[in-house]
Amino acid sequence: MSPQGEAQRTKGALLSLSDPMLGEEERQAVIRVLESGWITMGDRVSEFEKAFAARHDASAAVAVSSATAGLHMALAGLGIGPGDEVLVPSLSFVATSNAVIYTGARPVFVDIERVDAPHISIEDAARKMTDRTRAVIVMHYGGYTCDMTRWSDFAARHGLHLIEDAAHAVGHPQAGRHSRAAVFSFYGNKNMTTAEGGMIITGDAALNGRLRLLRSHGMTTNTLDRVRGHAHSYDVTMLGFNYRLDEIRAAIGLVQLDRLPAANEKRRALTKQYRRLFRERLPSVAVPFGDDHETVAHLMSIVLPPSADRAEIMRRLRDDSILTSIHYPCIHLFSYYQEFFAGTHLPHSESFSQRELTLPLHPAMTESDVNHVVSKLCQILS
Ligand SMILES: *Cc1c(COP(=O)(O)O)cnc(C)c1O
Repeated sequence: MSPQGEAQRTKGALLSLSDPMLGEEERQAVIRVLESGWITMGDRVSEFEKAFAARHDASAAVAVSSATAGLHMALAGLGIGPGDEVLVPSLSFVATSNAVIYTGARPVFVDIERVDAPHISIEDAARKMTDRTRAVIVMHYGGYTCDMTRWSDFAARHGLHLIEDAAHAVGHPQAGRHSRAAVFSFYGNKNMTTAEGGMIITGDAALNGRLRLLRSHGMTTNTLDRVRGHAHSYDVTMLGFNYRLDEIRAAIGLVQLDRLPAANEKRRALTKQYRRLFRERLPSVAVPFGDDHETVAHLMSIVLPPSADRAEIMRRLRDDSILTSIHYPCIHLFSYYQEFFAGTHLPHSESFSQRELTLPLHPAMTESDVNHVVSKLCQILS
């Protein structure tokens, strides 16, 4: 693992929120693709899919151009469309519900469980069910997985498709085990990156087949098959998209996937330290989920006391070169969504969204970085 960020960061330098770990191996992998003469979807993409499926103990993985594309394809592959409703958390990245709208279906926003458990709530989901509800998308906030045993019971009881937005949960052993499809992201700030990219895992062989068609215009053969003489033409069997990944990204992904276990272990160790320091030094700050909740530690999320001035805290941390962020503004409150969801009120999501602060967390950080962040917060909050 290349501890670039660590080596380059001197005292007083910027402590970023997340930091992709890219090194010599990625550089070599990209150069090999450029020299190979084949840069679009081919053998490296297949190799990346097999390696990713193996890492998650899944029978099939389909590489895509982004998690957003993957969510859209998963919904389309399950036949979700106009007239259907899909239950989604409002406390997520906007891609979760945008993907539903792309299909012509309607997202129905569900509250989170509690401010200290920002997962989509089963109880609220049950209240929001109608005879049009066809699917539910759960999101593994911060890398902490939702209770998938309960969700798969719920989905089975109500005849719903269960989809995981697993953008935060790359490498989590529980992700993708209990759903029709789980969608992962390799965007630059995720636990592993291909710059842009994503992966769908599914145990459903028929869905896997449909996803492969949907990824590339519903075409029955690809360019490489034809170049190799395995096929000379193709049929188009459904309305598909261009959501392919390419060889350059797949090559980076293979290197990143090898590093993932160590990177996630480092994230967990830093999170454990953050949690201990908050408990000992700043008990007015809440850290969502329990210490023993299995996680791939994507986000270091805290909930500030209701009286705290978050904007001022963020400004003062930034003055000290500590970058922070908010995960997330509620989707239903964005201007575009207010056109359709002006009447939606989700008290727990709204309260969490107002008080949440995301602190720096990435594998290049050191224990002293974590101490530094917590000390600064103690100073500011006292
Ligand atoms: C990053 C993210 C996405 C979108 O991922 P892309 O690969 O950028 O399309 C979707 N959902 C959540 C929760 C995310 O964090």
